[in-house]
Amino acid sequence: MPDPILLDGTATAQTIRAEVAGRVARLKAEFGVTVGLAAVLAGENPASVTYVKMKRRACEKAGIYSRAVEFGADATEEDIFSAVQALNADPAIHGILVQHPLPKGMDEYRILAEVSPDKDVDGIGRGSLGDLVKGDAAFVACTPAGMVELMDRYNLPIAGKHAVVIGRSVILGKPLALLLLNRNATVTVCHSRTVDLPRYIRDADIVCACVGKAEFITGEMLKPGAVVLDAGYNRVAGRTSDVGDCDYESCAQVASAITPVPGGVGPMTIATLLANTVKAAERSVGIVS
Ligand code: NAP
Repeated sequence: MPDPILLDGTATAQTIRAEVAGRVARLKAEFGVTVGLAAVLAGENPASVTYVKMKRRACEKAGIYSRAVEFGADATEEDIFSAVQALNADPAIHGILVQHPLPKGMDEYRILAEVSPDKDVDGIGRGSLGDLVKGDAAFVACTPAGMVELMDRYNLPIAGKHAVVIGRSVILGKPLALLLLNRNATVTVCHSRTVDLPRYIRDADIVCACVGKAEFITGEMLKPGAVVLDAGYNRVAGRTSDVGDCDYESCAQVASAITPVPGGVGPMTIATLLANTVKAAERSVGIVS
């Protein structure tokens, strides 16, 4: 097999971020609008703290005003709920991100459902997910939307292809399957109860790994020429860098295009969050794309 196309999420995300910065500047110049994103963080989960920091930094670089609404470990569900309601009503805020997971015992679904659909830039509120089923969501969950955007930026066809999505979480596998279905792929969704997973992977033109298990998918499982999108991000003891759900070395020998980890799907997530946020601000002044 010839070398696969490397789906470079870092470079593509940089391009998107530059595009976002241009749109942010236009909103300021033509409408006097400063685009604003609020991140609600509850508890002290170190990964969540890091993600929120990364998102805030990315906002600042793109000229987006970012506000962190932070609660300690003693916060109640009602505290978070009220904060979301206040942000819904705040004209300086165009996008609201509730960083998950929320502390144990909180009804995440109830809180996410309270985010105004016009500000649901994370795309996982009830309205956004419902609209995605219908096929016309304004905002789609950032990682799946970023994965499809990456394919589009490399002009990889989706319609008519057999896409196999391994994983069915609400933030990743399920919305990705719907997005691909809406783009006329034939979609198979696999999960931990799937019997004979290799049988499905072997038949896939597009393999989407959304599992959370290091190097779980290997090259010999793939159909030659398959496109491999790896959302996995797994810490492995003794390895200096996080690894994906796919064994990159063996998959790259069989795939026609593949995302590296890191530098593939990961950077696309934040870029998509920024793109969704500027889109929310544009919609607030009547620009609908
Ligand atoms: P999750 O909620 O734990 O979901 C994992 C999915 O994998 C579940 O649907 C599970 O099936 C399925 N699964 C587990 N073992 C399996 C097996 N042996 N065979 C087939 N399917 C299996 O995880 P997630 O939040 O979707 O995240 C998945 C991965 O993506 C993680 O590595 C995460 O770090 C990464 N991620 C990356 C980004 C990013 O920005 N790059 C964003 C989100 C997530 P069941 O439903 O049957 O349990």
